[in-house]
Amino acid sequence: MIRKALLAIAAIVLVLSGVLVFNTLRFESKQESIEPVALDSLKKRSLERLQKAIQYQTISYGDSTRFDSTAFVGFRNFLSSAYPLVHAALTREVVGKYSLLYRWEGMHPELRPVILMAHQDVVPIEEATRSRWTIDPFGGIVKDNAIWGRGTADDKINLIAILEAVEKLLVQRFSPDRTIYLAFGHDEELGGKGAAALAALLKRRGVKADMVLDEGGIITTDKIPQFERPVALLGTSEKGYMSLELTVEKAGGHSSQPDPETAIDILLKAVQRIRENPFDTDLSESTRGFLEYLGPEMPFSRKIVFANPWLFSGVIKKIYESTPSGNAIIRTTAVPTIISAGVKDNVIPAVASATVNFRLLPGDKGADIIERVKRLIADDRVKVNIHNGFLAEASQVSPVDGYGFQHVSRVVRESFPRAVVAPFLMIGGTDSRHFGEISDNIIKFSPMVDPEGYHGIDEHVSLESYRLAIGFYDRLIRNLN
Ligand SMILES: [Zn+2]
Repeated sequence: MIRKALLAIAAIVLVLSGVLVFNTLRFESKQESIEPVALDSLKKRSLERLQKAIQYQTISYGDSTRFDSTAFVGFRNFLSSAYPLVHAALTREVVGKYSLLYRWEGMHPELRPVILMAHQDVVPIEEATRSRWTIDPFGGIVKDNAIWGRGTADDKINLIAILEAVEKLLVQRFSPDRTIYLAFGHDEELGGKGAAALAALLKRRGVKADMVLDEGGIITTDKIPQFERPVALLGTSEKGYMSLELTVEKAGGHSSQPDPETAIDILLKAVQRIRENPFDTDLSESTRGFLEYLGPEMPFSRKIVFANPWLFSGVIKKIYESTPSGNAIIRTTAVPTIISAGVKDNVIPAVASATVNFRLLPGDKGADIIERVKRLIADDRVKVNIHNGFLAEASQVSPVDGYGFQHVSRVVRESFPRAVVAPFLMIGGTDSRHFGEISDNIIKFSPMVDPEGYHGIDEHVSLESYRLAIGFYDRLIRNLN
């Protein structure tokens, strides 16, 4: 009897390992083999132009009264004088006062256009951290083989590298087959009204693009645990954004004789219910793609896990869940960010409110989330409203076999031959979220290696990244022909 059972177990183990090994052997690399191309060296003039671009303080302040229009107008004029051929050969429109739309007419109007995006604005320098910057954030300083300052990584490197590439192509009398648009928003850091206006204008003109490329993932050499090769992260979707305001009104009174339940009590219970009931996990399409692209490049022992998601997806989710950044990739998150109630220590407030910020996983719709929140709270005394009426649903997912992903990956493999290409879900937002009706192929990728100080202190990118970025856009445009 025991022998029979042991034999049965042995048979199951044998079949199971057979399936695991079979799947692993069949789990082939998705990295296209492409002849690498030698990119030009970085010209002194190109570097000077990026340095100058950093010096314009095109800051997006939360407080709109601090908006400095002269910085944006100055930046725009600087671009005209720095890139004379671009401004002669392309048409330029100013949209929504400060956003810019360039159009480079293609030779074959029957081909669909391509849109290259970047944003002009940068985040402010937090007063509390200014003293910790080791250089002037708006000096455009070069040291240690890097360019330093606010906006170097986010996002002037892309904007300037695109213009450098186009200017150079024009010197060489290159003419694009398809029309190329350059769309440079001016308030990405505030949600991108400029980009929304650019998208609306293109939509009115009936423009449908084969590809939109915006900032996004980077090339990382150290952010993927236990993976030695650099990885180029091509964003194929991004999470949505919504904040809910929970408000409770209940007669207040003197704190010497409190009710058993106050507005604050009711509110805190509601917030706690949301926090204690996390959303379901889901390896959404971009994350499954990430595992499918990266898995085959792993050593056999780990490859076996990625090749058999039917067995290991639970383990994979557990690994993601173990860090806040991983957790954000596999579920909609919810966190209270503002709580307000009360004005005096001996008065029970009659109103208490909390703002809870949600980042929506593709597949989770805003309306469903609101329903779920109301169900969880299960208390009519808590009113639920969308904060500022602003809801950005998660983006659609750009397919990995679509034109955008395929084209950008080939250019990456040409210009950064060591890098492994992988799709991924972006946690943060970009201006390209507004272009869902313009293209089904929106790729979020910034061609630079290990930038530092995004939205933080001592932001900088290596000169090598800048050289690669110019070369990348040059190849990207050439290869469209
Ligand atoms: Zn940005």
